[in-house]
Amino acid sequence: MTVNLLDFDAAGLTDFFAEQGEKSFRARQVLRWIHRCGQGDFAAMTDIAKTLRAKLMAVAVVAPPAIVSDRLADDGTRKFLFDVGGGNAVETVFIPEDDRGTLCISTQAGCALDCSFCSTGKQGFNRNLTVAEIIGQLWQANRTLEADRDRDGQLAEDAERIISNVVLMGMGEPLANFENTVTALRLMLDDNAYGLSRRRVTVSTSGLVPAIDRLRDECPVALAVSLHAPNDALRDELVPVNRKYPLRELMAACNRYLEKAPRDFVTFEYVMLDGVNDSDAQARELLALTREVPRKFNLIPFNPFPGTSYRRSPAPRIRRFAEILMEAGVVTTTRKTRGDDIDAACGQLAGQVLDKTRRTARRTIVLNEVDAR
Ligand code: SAH
Ligand code: SF4
Repeated sequence: MTVNLLDFDAAGLTDFFAEQGEKSFRARQVLRWIHRCGQGDFAAMTDIAKTLRAKLMAVAVVAPPAIVSDRLADDGTRKFLFDVGGGNAVETVFIPEDDRGTLCISTQAGCALDCSFCSTGKQGFNRNLTVAEIIGQLWQANRTLEADRDRDGQLAEDAERIISNVVLMGMGEPLANFENTVTALRLMLDDNAYGLSRRRVTVSTSGLVPAIDRLRDECPVALAVSLHAPNDALRDELVPVNRKYPLRELMAACNRYLEKAPRDFVTFEYVMLDGVNDSDAQARELLALTREVPRKFNLIPFNPFPGTSYRRSPAPRIRRFAEILMEAGVVTTTRKTRGDDIDAACGQLAGQVLDKTRRTARRTIVLNEVDAR
């Protein structure tokens, strides 16, 4: 059976090499070839002995998920669709900004948590992604973006990596696929792989309390928590997992996390739903709820999808809501809606390869809503 080397972090690869009777420094060399150089062809790993290269060719592969589409939005956002087999596809979005390039990665095909405003949740749960499928999104995006840059004439050697930040905010709940997510995180942080600092890798969770504690102990990175409601009654409705881990427990878990986190605040994400969670009173309630947690707020204008009855809060309402939070001294940003001409905006990620008609319908609706504003 061939082994996919993208499934291994440094420790896993060292074990695999030991099983092959090879020294651990060889594992490190191969790790660097694969992740630092984006090389998937053992024959091209020139400083590895020919005999070892031949052995690797016989027993191993570097097999990322295949890119089935690659689309560029008007604002520079780029969306990759990856085939993960069985009719499932997952999406990865690259968001270029002046001072950084952020890749938004998926961790599951679908999601079991069924948040009422999320199109991924509405499609149900298919399965956890493997490590190779999670890190393979970064591997593929990195290679593609760097190849494009080099074609445009910049020198790869002195150029900085195009992807400077990774957020696990694509499809799925990263902490519900804990082991694979953490192995992929280790690769993102490893200097022999992607070398990203812990502050530049963010896990976004709907609030799985025991897994937040585990992440703190095993691999603390920046944390974003999808709050969306200022009290349990409303959050039970919007984020059903709240019935299991209510807000008081979630706030306590955030504070425990901060004891070991690379940043000294938690980002609370809050989707702005017209007439549901966006009143002045709810902004004040949100401040009171989170008072004990060092935090920032990130307001996300709701992105509609077919079949949803929610609407996006009007822009002046979002501004007023943000003002109330900022007047209390809390840093508050409002996410720019990006890439919505290619369905790449938050919560629009839904990846059925076969579901072409729905995708077209969704795009039309999104564009109409944007035009109507
Ligand atoms: N499962 C994780 C990470 C993926 S979702 C989580 O829930 O945090 C990433 C972010 O997009 C979350 O804050 C999520 O609540 C938000 N989101 C989901 N659907 C959305 C929609 N339709 N419009 C705007 N944001 C949405
Ligand atoms: Fe899952 Fe996050 Fe969507 Fe909720 S918002 S259904 S946790 S992907």
